[in-house]
Amino acid sequence: MPTYDVIVVGGGPAGATAAYELATSGINVLILEKERFPRYKPCGGGLSLKIDRVLKFSIKEVIETTVMGVHFSYQGKNGLSILSDRPVAYMVMRDRFDSLLISEATKAGAAFIDGTPVKGISAAKWGYEVSAGDQTFHCRYIVGADGANGVVQRSLHPQVTRSVAASLEAEISVDQQVVDDHNHYVHIDFGAIPSGYAWVFPKRGRLSAGIAGFNGVVKQPRRYFDKFIKGVPSLHGVDKIDHKGHPIPLFRTPQPLTKDGIILVGDAGNLVDPFFGEGIYYAVRSAQMASAVVSEAIHTGGSDLSRYDKLLAHELYPEFKAARKISQVVYTFPMIWYDTLAERPELAEKYYNVLRGDSRYTIFLKELKTIAGSLIKSVIKRNILQLLK
Ligand SMILES: Cc1cc2nc3c(=O)[nH]c(=O)nc-3n(C[C@H](O)[C@H](O)[C@H](O)COP(=O)(O)OP(=O)(O)OC[C@H]3O[C@@H](n4cnc5c(N)ncnc54)[C@H](O)[C@@H]3O)c2cc1C
Repeated sequence: MPTYDVIVVGGGPAGATAAYELATSGINVLILEKERFPRYKPCGGGLSLKIDRVLKFSIKEVIETTVMGVHFSYQGKNGLSILSDRPVAYMVMRDRFDSLLISEATKAGAAFIDGTPVKGISAAKWGYEVSAGDQTFHCRYIVGADGANGVVQRSLHPQVTRSVAASLEAEISVDQQVVDDHNHYVHIDFGAIPSGYAWVFPKRGRLSAGIAGFNGVVKQPRRYFDKFIKGVPSLHGVDKIDHKGHPIPLFRTPQPLTKDGIILVGDAGNLVDPFFGEGIYYAVRSAQMASAVVSEAIHTGGSDLSRYDKLLAHELYPEFKAARKISQVVYTFPMIWYDTLAERPELAEKYYNVLRGDSRYTIFLKELKTIAGSLIKSVIKRNILQLLK
């Protein structure tokens, strides 16, 4: 039976990063991936600039565009472009981005088998048996990086109800000129879908458009998607749009992401920012923390992985908790939020700093609290004056 120190289930950003880190520290690691690579993954592919702080190799070759800010709208109406003088985020296509991460992992020494879904894991005498395709593999540790619908998470937390954002996303081919017109900003519409937002992200020769509702079930999401698309000038005349749905597992409350020799990373651990729905950065970062802990256990002969839960509680959970509070306000009052940005555009720059990693959600939340009272008064006043016109 093929035997490894670690088997990583899933070859997305979390799995590829975990394998890269483990292989780099001399550990015998195998990634088992369900799909054949390169594979499509429904995702906006917006990569906040803070990724530069954590990745250990260049991703330049897969960056489609670099954006400097956001064009905000409210239910397709109005329009407010807030551009920065510095980059805020990169746009990537997930097939190319994820393949690059896998190629870095294999260059570092990880083994990769794609087109091989893991069907089950069971405790064995010395670690675990993993059945995948028609084979059985043996390992000491398992990294669950199999995303929002993964099998590893279900084996750890079969009872837990998750907080899942409903989403639809489409890649739409357009003339490069249309992309050039969009090139330095993303379009975000608040209120296009209840408790969420719609987006258009520029890529080479295409626009990625989608919607996500951050408050659980959204009835007939297609209706909101079609309505939003109809209102986007750069997509006028595009008739056939092939969209895909996929859950986004938002962080809600911390739960242990380790049990015996199993450790969950990325979407499998619900490590998605509940305000923006950003998951790629957190997939990479959680995988780095998890692999440091697994590597330590292997090198010292220990077996306790629970230090990972502590690292998450220190670095990521305070961020997610603050993002969740912001999300509750913004998606309950999207119009007020839009008006607030119009009134105080410098708030957007403060948020861009969170995306750049120059600031944090916890700091942004404090900044919002200090101005909330005066802002609410002036926004309400402006709305009342408008109604009385
Ligand atoms: C519509 C949409 C838009 C989004 N937009 C953004 C965005 O703009 N920016 C951002 O940062 N995040 C975005 N996200 C979130 C982001 O896509 C995820 O957070 C990110 O992909 C998580 O990476 P991961 O490696 O944990 O999981 P995944 O990328 O889902 O990778 C999991 C991998 O595991 C494989 N797998 C699953 N089951 C098995 C199995 N049984 N055996 C073997 N392999 C298996 C899958 O095939 C997949 O390759 C979006 C999500 C959605 C749905």
